[in-house]
Amino acid sequence: MGLIVAKFGGTSIGNGKRIRKAAQSVVNEYMDGKKVVVVVSAINKTTDELVAIADESIGKEVTEKQLAEILSLGERTSIRVFSSVLESLGVKSEYIDPSHELWPVITDDNYGKAQIDFERTEEQAQGLLSLLEQGIIPVVCGFLGRTENGEVTTLGRGGSDVTAFLLGHCLKADNVIIVTDVDGVMSTDPRKIDEAEKLDYISVEEMRDLATHGAQVLHPHALRFKDPEIKAKIISFEKGDLSDPGTEIVGPFEDSMGKKVCLHHEPISVVAVVGEDLLNQIGLLAKMTSLVADANINIYGISAGQNSITLFLDKEEADDAYHLLHDLVIAEDNLSSISLGRDIAMLTMINPDFIETPGVITEITNPLKENHINIVEISSSQTAIVLFINWEDGKAAYDLIKEVL
Ligand code: ADP
Ligand code: ASP
Ligand code: MG
Repeated sequence: MGLIVAKFGGTSIGNGKRIRKAAQSVVNEYMDGKKVVVVVSAINKTTDELVAIADESIGKEVTEKQLAEILSLGERTSIRVFSSVLESLGVKSEYIDPSHELWPVITDDNYGKAQIDFERTEEQAQGLLSLLEQGIIPVVCGFLGRTENGEVTTLGRGGSDVTAFLLGHCLKADNVIIVTDVDGVMSTDPRKIDEAEKLDYISVEEMRDLATHGAQVLHPHALRFKDPEIKAKIISFEKGDLSDPGTEIVGPFEDSMGKKVCLHHEPISVVAVVGEDLLNQIGLLAKMTSLVADANINIYGISAGQNSITLFLDKEEADDAYHLLHDLVIAEDNLSSISLGRDIAMLTMINPDFIETPGVITEITNPLKENHINIVEISSSQTAIVLFINWEDGKAAYDLIKEVL
């Protein structure tokens, strides 16, 4: 029998009518023979309002612990309303807040942005299964946690998405459904560009990058708990139908899991163009890259500085790129010379937690320093670090980095 974790965001339960519609959509699945665990956010903008009230009344004196207690009232209220509406629709329901013995989410005491104790949560979450067996629909506060001492914590703003995927994982759910105020994941925030289009699918990897770059539609940590076999989607509350296709989140894919560092199988070559005041030359990068693109040559990386622009290319194609770019150096006043460098090894490290791990670059580069391995170039983004080093050092660097990641 299918088990669904359905999470309703603030707008989706923004007033009485919407709560009833949301509850009805849950009942429809229940009547269809599914087991449903409901996770809810605070009604509408309650959390913002509680933050503002705490700020105006207590100000800077407010402790994280007090704030967690205050904010928790948003979700503590919404579960009670949602659960009562379910019962009014003729099904059995129980609301679960941090004071309930079956409360699942156990965290440390970092009250404002608590870390989840994964093992304890997994253990504790099994209690919800007993309710489901009895035909009871549990309605669980999103966003909240509880310490081992029974204190209330929060998972950080937008944290109900984390609760949904966390419970989905712990209960081995078939589906995690995020119900929100847009049709799904769009080509951009539809509040910013009207022409935004809905996507039918997005990969876990893309969704994580989108979220870490600030797209609010899903909390960046939520997908840490997405197992490949769980079907997950983001849908709109408007239709009141949990079977709406929305946007399906697919993956994670095998090769993006587990493998933390990857050594490109062949040497890379570096072509460096030097000149004056290069960062202020409008269109210079475009000229360089289109020359290379027209010759059907792939670029693995670019680094740009005031006096040089470096392209990283396949060794076999580097010579052609070198000749093409030399013509550009001759034609452009600001460019003076070009060089074709030696064989370079490219090491790529991908990890969605990089963005939030202070010192991760030091951790990677320290063992290289200790072993006298020089870094030719380094580039980093939110979730990836790419190192370029001499080809002879590639394998040794790969082994060293594997040790620390
Ligand atoms: P909820 O309260 O349901 O958790 P949020 O406000 O946290 O909802 O997230 C939904 C919002 O995310 C949308 O209203 C939209 O403005 C914003 N958003 C940003 N980027 C995107 C995107 N690429 N696709 C869809 N929504 C996006
Ligand atoms: N109610 C919380 C917030 O507004 C959590 C959530 O909505 O996910 O941040
Ligand atoms: Mg949200």
